[in-house]
Amino acid sequence: MPEFTNDSVVAIESTLNDVDRALERLRLGTYRTCQVCSTPIDGADLEANPLLANCRAHPELA
Ligand SMILES: [Zn+2]
Repeated sequence: MPEFTNDSVVAIESTLNDVDRALERLRLGTYRTCQVCSTPIDGADLEANPLLANCRAHPELA
């Protein structure tokens, strides 16, 4: 039985939340646009991180 630290659980839950939010944005049609300013997110940035929710001007809120 592998041992998981609390940090691992927190990191997994955080990723799951990000996936949930990305799927929700896909359903609402707001995927690929910044949550803060609604600017389209750079395609290369999304390719690097498909869960990206914000443009480069608002990385601290992603
Ligand atoms: Zn923005």
